[in-house]
Amino acid sequence: MKPRGKRGDGLVIVYTGGGKGKTTAALGMALRAIGHGKRVCMIQFIKGSWSYGEMESSRLLEPGFEMIAAGRGFVGIIDDKSPREDHERIAGEALRLASERVRSGAHDIVILDEINYAVDLGLVPVSGVLGILDARPPEVSVVLTGNRAAGQVVERADLVTEMREIKHPFREGVRAKKGIDF
Ligand code: ATP
Ligand code: MG
Repeated sequence: MKPRGKRGDGLVIVYTGGGKGKTTAALGMALRAIGHGKRVCMIQFIKGSWSYGEMESSRLLEPGFEMIAAGRGFVGIIDDKSPREDHERIAGEALRLASERVRSGAHDIVILDEINYAVDLGLVPVSGVLGILDARPPEVSVVLTGNRAAGQVVERADLVTEMREIKHPFREGVRAKKGIDF
């Protein structure tokens, strides 16, 4: 087994499952880490056309927090009718950016938000994600969010939490709420 923890090593953390709270758990960790003067980068792989509150509030935490909406490339440039290759190209660019940021050692924590969905949809190969985890400087933590995390990613992780839905107002037809869902 690889030596871990003793040298203050970073962790590979996965937030997965069908319940709400994966991205917000990652954001909560970022808030905590920045309070200790740590540098956090969050790369969003897939996001809809909504304006998420964290895109604005993350600016208040600069330079400790850097938010990169790579998935924003999906919005505007690409609509649902666009060829699959375009989706793959943009997801691939996000993956390359993620690889650069993790390797650079410029951040203590790199959050790859919704990357598990990108893998599940076949937009990025799981080998690409595993490559990033393998090339990670030992002091850097990587957080991967999104449901249906790949088995190989779960296997490689140090910490995995599965959010399980017990209730969600969505089931009662309640629409997404500003400040709670986006
Ligand atoms: P959050 O961003 O609130 O932490 P999440 O990251 O766990 O949620 P995603 O799978 O990324 O969830 O879903 C993104 C959007 O869907 C968010 O607006 C979130 O609130 C909402 N959502 C999450 N879980 C559910 C659910 N079980 N049913 C309906 N909507 C959900
Ligand atoms: Mg999410």
